[in-house]
Amino acid sequence: MSKRVAFVTLGCKLNYAETSALARQFAALGWEEVRPGPDVAIVVINTCSVTEHADKKCRNLIRRLHKTAPDAKIAVTGCYAQLKPQEILAIDGVDLVVGADRKGDLVRLALEADGEKHSYSCEINEVERFFPAWSSGERTRSFLKVQDGCDYHCAYCTVPLARGNSRNLPIADLVSQAREIAAQGIVEVVLTGVNTGDFGKTTGESFLDLLKALNDVPGIERYRISSIEPNLLTEEILRWIATGTKFLPHFHIPIQSGCNRTLKEMHRRYTAAQFEAKIALIRDILETPEERCTRVFFGIDVIVGFPGETDEDFEETYRLLERIRPAFLHIFPYSRRAGTPAAARPDQVQDAIKTLRVQRLEALSDRLHASFTAANAGRKAHVLFESTLKGGKMFGYTENYLRVERPYDKDLIGRITELII
Ligand code: SF4
Repeated sequence: MSKRVAFVTLGCKLNYAETSALARQFAALGWEEVRPGPDVAIVVINTCSVTEHADKKCRNLIRRLHKTAPDAKIAVTGCYAQLKPQEILAIDGVDLVVGADRKGDLVRLALEADGEKHSYSCEINEVERFFPAWSSGERTRSFLKVQDGCDYHCAYCTVPLARGNSRNLPIADLVSQAREIAAQGIVEVVLTGVNTGDFGKTTGESFLDLLKALNDVPGIERYRISSIEPNLLTEEILRWIATGTKFLPHFHIPIQSGCNRTLKEMHRRYTAAQFEAKIALIRDILETPEERCTRVFFGIDVIVGFPGETDEDFEETYRLLERIRPAFLHIFPYSRRAGTPAAARPDQVQDAIKTLRVQRLEALSDRLHASFTAANAGRKAHVLFESTLKGGKMFGYTENYLRVERPYDKDLIGRITELII
């Protein structure tokens, strides 16, 4: 059996970090990471299940990979594997399905696979183990998994059913992982998780203590927080960030709706007014009056077409987003997910209406992003240039997540460069 392994990852940055960790485990055993092909011995597929469409995409991918690598053992993990192990095991070519609690055993289980089909998963409420992970492979940035699982149970979301209860590693372990990342010459780290700000549930430590400990790691020059619930981005954290730390003025915060009735039915933990006040507080603390609405980059998640959402509810959301003026909107048409309270509701919104609402928010997002970008023209910024070469150009991101392009210069890769936008 050749010691050649291939990885295919779908879904979020958390999945990419976990696949990187699996790849490092195989490499430590002398395996070579290659692209899927006929001479591959093992294929690992890390799946996503955020929508029905994501499940279908996974099934098609598995079938395609089985054709590409007919002799390879196929190991499937990730959220879809935890939610529907038998559905995946029934697909031709799948040897093992590894659930949320057994990711740490995947390499051993794949090496020991005997040609019979096996599913290694347990009920989600029994999931306790934390699979440590950080992404490698990019020369400039790494995604560090600091938290897993979620205790929130929003009415539309299957993630708690796929990833289990909120849990985390001790700060000391995460600091040593950040040191490993720094040793690779990577200077920017993005903290990732399922409900990242809910860090500390299993160790009794605080998210702020984690940020402070990571801030002191030599070699890492910048940190971003991948996504955080508005109620968990506290004033204390913000005032600490404002004291001149490595944490950047870039926040990805889900609002999901701007209508209080919809927020309540979604089981979200804030009102529209509280959300708006939180954004204003962040700006009060991290922006000068001259920089108002132009320094902090807010990427905001919005769901359109949640069951029962009327035209007027949607207009409330639209008006609130216009007022808040974020730099970018991540827009999701509501997807009916089995096992969630919202899926059982009779008042589902028609797809055509969802599409119209998505289009309106996309136009708004383009307008907001253009005005945010224009407002930063002529400003000094610090850009971390990436290695990608496209049309003689290279690109990178400023502190406040503006994408900057310049003529390619390999000496600038992975370095933070000061320039005028
Ligand atoms: S907080 Fe996020 S991950 Fe948790 S249930 Fe709500 S939407 Fe899902």
